[in-house]
Amino acid sequence: MQTTYSLVSDTETRPTAAMRKAIAAAEVGDEQKGQDPSVNTLVARVADLLGKEAALWLPTGTMCNLIAMKVHTRPADVVIADSMSHIVRAESAGVAFSSGLMVEPIESTRGVFSPDDLSAAIARVRTVPSPYGAPPRLVCVEQTHNFAGGTVWALADLCALASRAREAQLAVHMDGARLLNACIAADVPAARFAAEVDSVWIDFTKGLGAPIGAVLAGSRDFIAEARRYKHIFGAAMRQAGIAAAACLYALDHHVERLAVDHEHARLLAKGLAEIEGLHVRTPVPESNMVFFEPAGLGIGNQAFLRSLDGYGIRMSEVRGAIRAVLHLDVPREGVAAALSAIRKIADESRRGELT
Ligand SMILES: *Cc1c(COP(=O)(O)O)cnc(C)c1O
Repeated sequence: MQTTYSLVSDTETRPTAAMRKAIAAAEVGDEQKGQDPSVNTLVARVADLLGKEAALWLPTGTMCNLIAMKVHTRPADVVIADSMSHIVRAESAGVAFSSGLMVEPIESTRGVFSPDDLSAAIARVRTVPSPYGAPPRLVCVEQTHNFAGGTVWALADLCALASRAREAQLAVHMDGARLLNACIAADVPAARFAAEVDSVWIDFTKGLGAPIGAVLAGSRDFIAEARRYKHIFGAAMRQAGIAAAACLYALDHHVERLAVDHEHARLLAKGLAEIEGLHVRTPVPESNMVFFEPAGLGIGNQAFLRSLDGYGIRMSEVRGAIRAVLHLDVPREGVAAALSAIRKIADESRRGELT
């Protein structure tokens, strides 16, 4: 039987045997009452890692975004974000539903925008003293940027943006679903990036390989307010230490190894670039994602994915391209298998064109 590899997303990681052992051994208590020791240890560690006063355990990254925006804003405020950010494109308009916000999108190529882009966005919505506009309250950055190809906000770019945001009295929120990938890629400590923003969270269910959980961090006051919304949204849990134990395990064992995923992404992109007719959008991947387009092979995205599936390799279509995400469950052989399958598809397609 052929070995199959899923490069659909780094969310596809399964808890390893050692992680499951940590889960089985977890000390637990009533999380809702603040009595779960594993959760308490985890949030203290993440607050420390991010250099923030406090942190809050939540079931998903999406809820971290929702709650952070809820705390930073009032209904009919404006949130400024990249037009292709997860908050704008992949959260079912949750910002409108739970916070009553209007989004002012910024167009960018890498998911990274400049202080002047921010000032222009602010000028579009803020019309004081005229009452026609709306108050911009918050700007969001995504580290790494998913749909732009796992791109990294360089520290200097983030500092410049945050400083302009402060001048304009906007809060800054970081969707740090893959912040630790950015830290490994840029060799910058998480706390250094986090120091530039008012709120930030990390996801444990992406490259870190845990089954459940995300942690939101910020000032003590911010987290106290966030805890209130956690309860309102029904996300206060009971023996959540079962899941937090996996996150603690991931912090100890799955952070440094993200470098391997980045190396695999570069390897994959390099191999793909050698296939004639294939257009690689991310020829030098910045983290663990590769985006490419097979149209030049004379094959559409969906047909390409079906052929690939026949070789036991799964990827997905994201934003008009094929996205491959490297993670814990894709070893080097998986990269080789993916390249070999794609070379075969390219050959088949060429032969098809000849006949
Ligand atoms: C996955 C992801 C989220 C949402 O996280 P969940 O834990 O799946 O809810 C938010 N932002 C980005 C950039 C993501 O990739």
